[in-house]
Amino acid sequence: MNRLAGVRISVRGVVQGVGFRPFVYALADRYKLRGWVRNTSAGVEIEVDGAPQALQSFVDSLQREAPPLARIDECVVEEKEVDGFRSFRILRSSPQPGAFQPISPDVSLCEDCRRELHDPQDRRYRYPFINCTNCGPRFTIIKDIPYDRPNTTMAPFAMCRACAAEYDDPLDRRFHAQPVACPDCGPQIWLTIGGERTAEREAALQAARRLLREGKILAVKGLGGFHLACDATNEAAVRELRRRKLRVDKPFALMAYDLDAVAAQCEMSEDERRLLTARERPIVILERSAQSAVSPLVAPAQHTIGFMLPYTPLHELLLEPEDGFPPALVMTSGNISEEPIATQNDEAQERLAALADAFLLHDRGIETRCDDSVVRCLQGERYPLRRSRGYAPDPLPLAWDGPPVLAGGPELKNTFCLTRERYAFMSHHIGDLQNYETLQSYEQGIQHFERLFRIDPQVLAYDLHPDYLATRYILERAQRENLPAIGVQHHHAHIAACMAEHGLSAEDEVIGLAFDGTGYGEDGAIWGGEVLLASYADYTRAFHLAYFPMPGGEAAVKQPWRLALAWLLSSDLPWDADLPPVQARSKRSLRLVGQQIAGRINTPQTSSMGRLFDAAAALIGVRQDVNYEAQAAIELEACADPEEEGAYRFPLSGGGIDTRPACRAIVKDLRSGEPAGHIAARFHNGLADMAVAVSRALREERGVARVALSGGVWQNMFLLRKVISGLEREGFEVLLHRRVPANDGGIALGQVAVAAHRMAAADGQRVG
Ligand code: ZN
Ligand code: ZN
Ligand code: FE
Repeated sequence: MNRLAGVRISVRGVVQGVGFRPFVYALADRYKLRGWVRNTSAGVEIEVDGAPQALQSFVDSLQREAPPLARIDECVVEEKEVDGFRSFRILRSSPQPGAFQPISPDVSLCEDCRRELHDPQDRRYRYPFINCTNCGPRFTIIKDIPYDRPNTTMAPFAMCRACAAEYDDPLDRRFHAQPVACPDCGPQIWLTIGGERTAEREAALQAARRLLREGKILAVKGLGGFHLACDATNEAAVRELRRRKLRVDKPFALMAYDLDAVAAQCEMSEDERRLLTARERPIVILERSAQSAVSPLVAPAQHTIGFMLPYTPLHELLLEPEDGFPPALVMTSGNISEEPIATQNDEAQERLAALADAFLLHDRGIETRCDDSVVRCLQGERYPLRRSRGYAPDPLPLAWDGPPVLAGGPELKNTFCLTRERYAFMSHHIGDLQNYETLQSYEQGIQHFERLFRIDPQVLAYDLHPDYLATRYILERAQRENLPAIGVQHHHAHIAACMAEHGLSAEDEVIGLAFDGTGYGEDGAIWGGEVLLASYADYTRAFHLAYFPMPGGEAAVKQPWRLALAWLLSSDLPWDADLPPVQARSKRSLRLVGQQIAGRINTPQTSSMGRLFDAAAALIGVRQDVNYEAQAAIELEACADPEEEGAYRFPLSGGGIDTRPACRAIVKDLRSGEPAGHIAARFHNGLADMAVAVSRALREERGVARVALSGGVWQNMFLLRKVISGLEREGFEVLLHRRVPANDGGIALGQVAVAAHRMAAADGQRVG
């Protein structure tokens, strides 16, 4: 008889709700081991007895072959006395007070479920809520941990016998799949028109498809909220959707059935195909192809469109190809302008009544709203623009340990962040904290995260802008709970976020190119064209764009022509009648702006790169007024001619970056009839040269050769690609955002990083 040994294994990471226990069960069976496995609130525990050789193989396989959705962060193996188990069993969950364990994000329909969905012999044939341990809703349906069915919005659905048998069978693909359901026992769909329930189940689906073919606008309840859907190739439908949604030009996201359907509309690389089909199923921004049938109204003045593939069985059925059915659907979030996406049936039918011709509803509750994520492909890899559905709330690993921190995040594109031990829980996309609904969703989101991950923050972090609602929330809370609150400068937070996702340590320093829209500066001015020398705990402002006035303050953000006039004035150029921003406005408007600047009335000073782009766009005549954030800069990028190699000069003087020569050169080029595409390119090229020049200057002075790129301007691919190649050519190491967005959606991660290191420095401790 073989000599027996025993081990006890504690596994931490994403190991619940992902088929981990059945996997352990099957492994134990393979190596003829006896013992047990169970979920705890901290992860998974295993005890096994067997031959020493078999135990070693078991432990190796455990880590090497873990199921696709699992992520093992820690696996502690201890020897133990042999208990002489007689079989291998899956035990009941054992909650540990105060312990936490990460929760899986929502996962798109897996291939096995997809096959069953289309198999007429399967009992879940065409069932819109088919799922298994490898796919389906997670984060959006969880109310509390442990992740068991009674703690989800599936609680009201009692499993039928067939589903219960699968749920209880350790060797079944649906073993302990909490949302498991079938047509006999699970959620259902129906259609309502004008508040009347007009069709159920398959008939509802077919009626919804008919409406889409006819060019109608359909509200569809999905995974993390409602979408508004219409035929993307039907110009009248898209125009009507814009009118109803009060959305003038901001691009709509699209959904197509499969890669072939996307390929009919867009140019795609292999890497982009991989991103589109990744299990997170983000919206991927793609180059529109010349023969695309998609209405130009989907993304006016842009040559890109955002596409995603179906990620729930309901989408899969809704988009099924058929003669005459639209090859692509608009699938934009179900809200009016910037309100949060609707999630509840009643709420949606009320709020979206004037927007949708019909509602495709279902009765599985959405606990947490979660918008679609958006990425680009950069150098073959994901470059996130919005990190939400499919990614949140998967924690990011931190390179330091410390007390739990809550960071309130920014005002626009808000996400918040909570840390615990070496994990950072970045929230889903909350949105712009500028209305009551979003603020509510923000406060509830923070409470929900604190409960789910059992976090009781001991340190708070906030943006220095005194009027941000997120800042006020944090300061109020600091006072109420008597907690230390640490103010973090906006652009320091951007750079620290980039450092944190690359795992830099407390001693590391980087050159931070924080090219951004708006951020509150330490001197009260509006910063955003910042070159920092930064560590987590501290930074110095090495260079910045020379200040220019922002006549009208916030009004200038919506009216770039104001910035163009201010830029001209700062560059000692008269407002001649031939210049586009002068031409576009009445004498009276010009006089008013002149008075604002001269009298410094409601005219803050800014070093913002975003505002410089706005000014250039207006000066060149690309856009004088915007109706969504960064529109002028986006259109300026879209018109830049990639063949043009000329570059304007942005000389450095002291800590300032002089923008006047560029302004004068633009005016000169305009007058000599240079095409807008050339001028736009020379502007971009000049800034790229400047980015390399400031980095070189800092490397010479301070010996730092690592450059972090963060801030909303780095969504500009034209500029980003040139700066990356310029820096790499000069031997710099370039840190790009890969996990959180370069825009304000990543700010909260930087805030927790700075706060944790400032606290540690104040305590005289080292973080590590
Ligand atoms: Zn599945
Ligand atoms: Zn069932
Ligand atoms: Fe920012």
